[in-house]
Amino acid sequence: MYSDSFARSAWTRAISARMSAGFILAATIALLGCAPEGIESKRPGQVDAERIVWVETFHERLSSLPSVEWRGIGECGDGTGFADGDTCRWDLMHLDTWTSETAWNGSFSKSAFSHSLCHAHAYLQGDPTGDFNHAGECFVGGLSNVADEALRAHGR
Ligand SMILES: [Zn+2]
Repeated sequence: MYSDSFARSAWTRAISARMSAGFILAATIALLGCAPEGIESKRPGQVDAERIVWVETFHERLSSLPSVEWRGIGECGDGTGFADGDTCRWDLMHLDTWTSETAWNGSFSKSAFSHSLCHAHAYLQGDPTGDFNHAGECFVGGLSNVADEALRAHGR
């Protein structure tokens, strides 16, 4: 059984402060020349994919873009997800650290890249749950699919 929900905490009101802390941690990791096991840095074409989804489709500012941590696939389910405890996930959007964990499935449009970022977009649009129930414009409204179509149109 797959789940693509996300974690949030009481810290959601302090996102900008946590984003700074996250940046410092990322910079420290880069200086150390290592990364946590199972987490990869940016994929080729990611800057382009982020612009297509976050700026051109969701009309958000690049300065508010969550960081994306790519997780390996094949850990669970039919081989397209990653294990999060007992749950197999395609993505996990952490509103508290403003970080998306997403399983890489061969391209940005085949991964839950747009889906996960749309949870963050929903949060920025005023939904404090980040559309936890998939009931808003991202999912019922199809905005996440529009972003995936735009990615495919650009070969991403
Ligand atoms: Zn979701």
